[in-house]
Parts: sequence; C-alpha cells; structure tokens
Amino acid sequence: MRKSKWLIFLLTIAMIFSLIGCQPKDSEDVTGDGLFNPGTYTGEGQGLSKIKVEVTVTEDKITDIKVVEHNETPGVGDVALEQIPAEIIEYQSLGVDIVAGATMSSNGIIEAITQALEKAGADIAALKKVPAKTVTKTGETIEKETDVVVIGAGGAGLAAAVSAHQNGAEVIVLEKMPKVGGNTIISGAAYNAVDPKRQQLQGIEDSVDKHFQQTYEGGDKLGKPELIRILVENAYPALEWLESMGMEFTDEVFTVLGGLWPRAHKPVEPLGTGYIKTYMNYIDNNSGIEVLLNTRATELIKENDRVVGVKAETPEGNLIVRARNGVVLATGGFSANVEMREEYNKIWPSLKNLKTTNHPGATGDGIAMAKAVGANLIDMEQIQLLPMGDPETGSLSGNIEQAVENRIFVNKQGKRFVDEGARRDVMTQALFEQEDAFMWVILDSKNYPTGDVKNNFNETIDELVAAGRAYKADTLEDLAKQIGVDPDNLVEAVNKFNEAVETGGPDEFGRTLFQWKIDTPPFYAGARVPTVHHTMGGVEINEKAQVLDVNGNVIPGLYAAGEVTGGIHGSNRLGGNALADITVFGRIAGENAAKNK
Ligand code: ADP
Repeated sequence: MRKSKWLIFLLTIAMIFSLIGCQPKDSEDVTGDGLFNPGTYTGEGQGLSKIKVEVTVTEDKITDIKVVEHNETPGVGDVALEQIPAEIIEYQSLGVDIVAGATMSSNGIIEAITQALEKAGADIAALKKVPAKTVTKTGETIEKETDVVVIGAGGAGLAAAVSAHQNGAEVIVLEKMPKVGGNTIISGAAYNAVDPKRQQLQGIEDSVDKHFQQTYEGGDKLGKPELIRILVENAYPALEWLESMGMEFTDEVFTVLGGLWPRAHKPVEPLGTGYIKTYMNYIDNNSGIEVLLNTRATELIKENDRVVGVKAETPEGNLIVRARNGVVLATGGFSANVEMREEYNKIWPSLKNLKTTNHPGATGDGIAMAKAVGANLIDMEQIQLLPMGDPETGSLSGNIEQAVENRIFVNKQGKRFVDEGARRDVMTQALFEQEDAFMWVILDSKNYPTGDVKNNFNETIDELVAAGRAYKADTLEDLAKQIGVDPDNLVEAVNKFNEAVETGGPDEFGRTLFQWKIDTPPFYAGARVPTVHHTMGGVEINEKAQVLDVNGNVIPGLYAAGEVTGGIHGSNRLGGNALADITVFGRIAGENAAKNK
C-alpha cells in the first residue's frame, strides 16, 4: 500500500512537471476549454525580411507579443512591428488595421502572430473579426489657437514647422496618419544640389544654371521659371540647414534615376528616415511645436478673404485650430487616390490598375481643401510614373540598381529597349511598349561585392535572392534561363552595352551615362513594372510659397509647399529634385507664415 501511494505521488509530480514542460514554446499537445492553450508560442511571417515572434497567452487572453527577429526598415517597417502587436493585445483581435506605408511589414507581423496563435489552438477566424474599437467621440468641438498651423507631417510640413519655429512662431502640425513621415520617409531620399565641396572633390562640373536648365527643360518648359530659380539657388543652403540640425549625407554625390546629372546627395540613414528624424529631434528638443497625429484636416477656415484656421477630425471629436499668422498646406500629392488619377490623367493609358510607390495617405486632400477656398490648380494632368515598381506592391523596394551608370534594362525577350539614363517619363513610356510592360534590371557583382551589400532600401542582395525578389547566376546564360529570357539576346545586349562603355557612347539608344562594364560574375536580375510615383500638379504658389487664386492673387494667410503644389516640375520631375523642393519651399513657407503677423 505504502509503496503504491508513493508511486501515485511520484506519478502525480511527474505529470505536473510534464504539464509544465508542455507549456513553453510551441507546445501543441495541451488542450483546454478556454480560447487558448496557455503558454508561449513562436510564429514566423514574411515582411521585407523574416519576422519571428513569441506570443504568450493565458486561457482567455493574449498577454504578450515579442518580436524576436526581424530586419525591417527602420522608421518604416519597424513602426508596424510596434504598433500591430500593441493593437492586437489591446483589442484581443487579429482584425487590426495595417500600418500605412508599411504594408509588407504589417502583413508579415500579422502572419507571424497568426501562426503562433494557431499553435496555441486559437479560433483564427473568430480572432480575425474587426474589433469594435472603443473610441467614443465626445461630440464636442475642441478649439485651439496658435501662430502657424501646418497640415501634413511629411518632409515639407516638418520643414515648414521647424522653419516657422525658428522664425519665432508657435506651431501646431496636424497629421492624419498615426505616424509622421508621409511619402518622404519611404522615399529613395536623394537630394539634388549643386555642391561646391563634394562635386569639386569628385571632379564633377556643375552649376546652378545647369541645374536650372535641366529642371526647366526636363519638365518641357512647363514649370514656372521663377519657382525653379528659387529651388536651384536654395537647394544647397537648405541642405546645409539640414546638416546644421544634425542630418548627415554621404561624401559622394551620384546620379539618381532620371536625375540627369551627378548632383544627388544620399542621406547616411536609410530611405527618408534621416530627414524626418532630424526634424523630430528638433521638435523634441524645442518647446513650441505640437504635432497632433490621427488628426485629419477637412476644411480651411476663411474669414474676410483670409485663411485663419483649419477644421479637423480626431478620434475624440472635432477640432478647430485657429492660426494667428498663417496656415501651411503640406499634404503631399494624390498618387494613392485612384479617382483623382482617373479624373486628371490625360497623358498615360488608364492608371486605374497601376500600383503606387506612395503611402496610402497620399490622397490629395490638400488640393481639394485649397480648391474650396479658391486656389488655382495647375498641371494637374502631369502624373509621374516610374519604371521601377515592384510587380507585387508597386513600391520601389527590392530595386537592385545601385547607380544609373551600371545597369541595363531588358524586356521579356532579353533585349534592351531604351536609354536607361533618360528622363523618367521617356523610360516609362518605352516600358509600356514592351510585352506586359515588364522588364528586368541587369547588373553585375561590382555593384554587390559581397552578399551583404545593401540596396537603397536597406535590403541585402542575399536577402532579395533568398526571397525570390532577385536572381543570381555565375553566367549570363544561366541568369537568362532563371528569368526566362532568350540567353543569346541577353548576352548580345550585355556585349553591346560593354562596347559602349569603352567608347563612352552615345550608344544605339542615345545613352551617355556609363561607368563600368557588366562583366564580373555573379550577375543579378530583378523584375520591375511601371508604378505611379509623383503628381507634379497641384496648388499654384509664388516665390514666397503663398497660394494664388484663380486670378493670380495671393490668398492671404495661406501657404503651400511640397508635392501638394504644382508648377515647379512641369511635365516631368527630375529624380532627386523632390527632396530639394520640399525642403526649400517648406522652409520658405514656414518662414513667411511665421512673419505674416
Ligand atoms: P511632401 O513630400 O510634400 O512633404 P509627404 O507625402 O511626405 O509630402 O507628406 C504629406 C503628409 O500630409 C503625409 O504625412 C500625409 O499623411 C499628410 N496628410 C495628407 N492629407 C492630410 C490631411 N487631410 N490632414 C492631415 N494630414 C494630411
């Protein structure tokens, strides 16, 4: 008896231990009556990189989500990795919204958490129901007053906010998304400026006049010359202004896609994060600029012909912000607004089914608000496409090119079809004429001396190859086989290109930008399609960034800067001119709004 009692006791202890032993990571053999089998479970998902999580659940609650591995883009994807787990825990639901501008990272983290919860025995379909968010609108309208109101917290808006503050103003920034940065933070971020230091060291001849000419002629002389002058003359001072606030650019300038000349500056931080961080550091370290997220401006308030404030919506209710000095519109373009694209596009085939490089907030709100108070809109039909979109997402990420000089484009037959150093519209038009409007970027290992060299989007070439987003081969013939193009055509295209590198061109397509031959294995290929990138048209402004009405008169109290404006880039914006534009005019708009007492 005694012996068997001991045995039962020992067995009980063993069972308790074995149960405890079952609970840690990935136990699947414990069953219970609750929503989950308590424990900690791992899951994996695919964002731009592999995302690994550990999810801890009790019987009826998700209590903790840890991201244990990822390599998502700082300031973009990693925002999703913070926000989505927090919301899943808050709402106990997988039906949460994806984070704007970070679609792939959002889907990747949701996939990883879903996998872990499946292992925890959860009813995934039930968890995917969209949560009833418990935000209660008070119905009250809150009123605030400040000197300068800025609408939009992208590059132009934050430049305006900082500049207004430096000119003595108190500022409120309204941003409709749950984060700052807009398109600027996810952009390639190249900044064109004639640079007396860097270009000289590299032996590059350039001048402000040349930058002017290329911008004016590159936009088919549609841009307003007086605005282009302001842009090219102030590009370098504005770059120095950014540097004075701690922003770093690399030592060498380069030619960005469609930039036509080596005057593009590359930030040290990935994508556009450097700009946004610089402004946000300033804002954090100085009192007097308030940034309100999740706050969507809906209407400009005009009294006695003067813009005096903004109406907005917040999760808590309505907001009115009155501006003692001025309002700066910096809401960006409308590339993500398919209806507006269809309304204004007169130049391209239908853009309905094209994807965009833009964040989902680029819906042209500012254009509609300005129009409602009488602003003149110009060049609205000028919509810029890029030939460099990811076939899946439309984003520029995954683009393997390192510099315009060192890669070629081939179509599905393996043949070149355009000067790859040409204007963006010329290249995109040529791409539309190829089978399926589809092409491969081809380059060699001089661009990627090792597998861990990154592209401009913080992705290593090894990661891209592993994810099936790029192809790698030791011979061009093998590369051709992998991507399904005719090997003879590809070899011939590369040989001809290499001959042109030797002579310096122009080659049969008129190409003149060359640096290296494509001759050092391994060779790489990456697929690209047209994508909607930038809307050149918008609100008309003058040299002081004041908004003009349909009769060419200033609308007092209203300023605009950045992609919401039109009339600078004409029919075609040069690569690298957007960051210069939004910084220069954001800075001018902020200063003039502050001084408009
Ligand atoms: P730019 O390059 O001109 O600065 P961005 O796209 O970088 O343009 O930034 C524009 C910002 O304006 C984005 O963050 C976008 O979410 C924000 N925005 C757009 N419409 C509104 C609106 N109605 N209210 C508040 N913010 C807005």
